[in-house]
Amino acid sequence: MTIVRGAVITMDPDRRIIDDGAVLITDDTIAAVGTFAEIRTAHPDAAVVGGPGDLVAPGYINGHQHLTGDRLIQSSIPDDLAPGEAIFTWVVPVHAEHTGDDDELSATLTLAESLRNGMTTTFEAGTVAHPDRVAKAAETIGARLTVGTWGWDVEQGPFAGPVDEVLDRQRRALDLVTGPLVSSWVSLVGHDLMSDELVVAATELARERGVAMTFHLSPSTSDTESYRARTNQAPLVHLDGLGVLGPHLAIGHGVHIDDAEVEILLRTQTAVVSCPWAYLRLGQGISHRFRHLDLWKRGGRVALGCDAENAGDMVDGIRTAALFAGLAKERDLDPTVFGAHDAFELLTIKGAEALGIADRVGSIEVGKQADLVVHDRTRVEWIPPSPDPVLQLVWGSDGRSVRDVWVAGARVVADAEVVNVDVPALLESAIAAGQGLRTRSGIPNARRW
Ligand SMILES: [Zn+2]
Repeated sequence: MTIVRGAVITMDPDRRIIDDGAVLITDDTIAAVGTFAEIRTAHPDAAVVGGPGDLVAPGYINGHQHLTGDRLIQSSIPDDLAPGEAIFTWVVPVHAEHTGDDDELSATLTLAESLRNGMTTTFEAGTVAHPDRVAKAAETIGARLTVGTWGWDVEQGPFAGPVDEVLDRQRRALDLVTGPLVSSWVSLVGHDLMSDELVVAATELARERGVAMTFHLSPSTSDTESYRARTNQAPLVHLDGLGVLGPHLAIGHGVHIDDAEVEILLRTQTAVVSCPWAYLRLGQGISHRFRHLDLWKRGGRVALGCDAENAGDMVDGIRTAALFAGLAKERDLDPTVFGAHDAFELLTIKGAEALGIADRVGSIEVGKQADLVVHDRTRVEWIPPSPDPVLQLVWGSDGRSVRDVWVAGARVVADAEVVNVDVPALLESAIAAGQGLRTRSGIPNARRW
């Protein structure tokens, strides 16, 4: 039994914030939430972590994150390449060379950074070659993860193959990937890199197994051009016609979608994960076409993601939430339309609802999984504390003030250090693995200056 003490941002239905509050953890579950005084009185023998000045929040949710491919060459792909060049001349060749060891190391580093910044739940975006090794990384470090494996059947490239072969890989991943913290989903690369036959069959598999599904769509205008050339329809109009949309599906991106596609997402209750830093890093037009705001205004299902370490690069949900809020205000030239509190909902309870996990995580409520983040408000950016901690959290801070993190009741970050993995000790092997990937894949060691 542990008592975590601080001002508690519950994100419960009343959005209670309890000053000098406390959360009681028993095993993997939140057993009580209240003032520190009442919880301490009821549990005089429990260990206490934190103090009245700390800030306690539910674990943050990352709905779209590549755990392999980018990390070992992070922030290496130039940010001034022509559209598509980063993917097909850099990312795909590097993915093709990933060994199982590379996958586990890459996922370990990304999940370490995630936990360090308070992101307790990660949904892998659909490009893992060795899902068992990525699952092992999550179990070892103590992160909550949903993972699948790579699937496409149109381009020539790593793991591309006929529909049956791709589905077999998906089935094997669903069978293989299990653990207390790890679940699996059907994951296709998406875009226009999946035949109608594949996306229909993969959807049937997800529905049959009762698991969620993801694919990429329309971060830029190229998917619209490609679907129109192939099917004479906008991508989501075509996919709706195939019957593959629905609440089981979380689409990565959906930036460049038209009015009819917005209606389709709302009608089918399909979720969209917004990764605004990626769109800015890649110059994909988010400030011109911020349809995620329209989805949000109409009650659509929206979550936040950090994408990849050459597409947004940092894995920090607070930073992502602030950017999303700023873009929303900017698009409508209206500061009243959306703010820090709305963005914080997307990072916690509303993100959990969009991704179908709100029965377990996303808020601090009795009976939910004990996924908690503690921010240290003695750091300079928090001095003096604002009367509105959510406002200060989103606009005035970032993941650097995260001091302690629990996932399923286990403390996985303590005093700002990842508990279960010696991260500094991974430096040499990460450099060597990254250099090996550069050599084998033939990507350049680019440096502007
Ligand atoms: Zn992605």
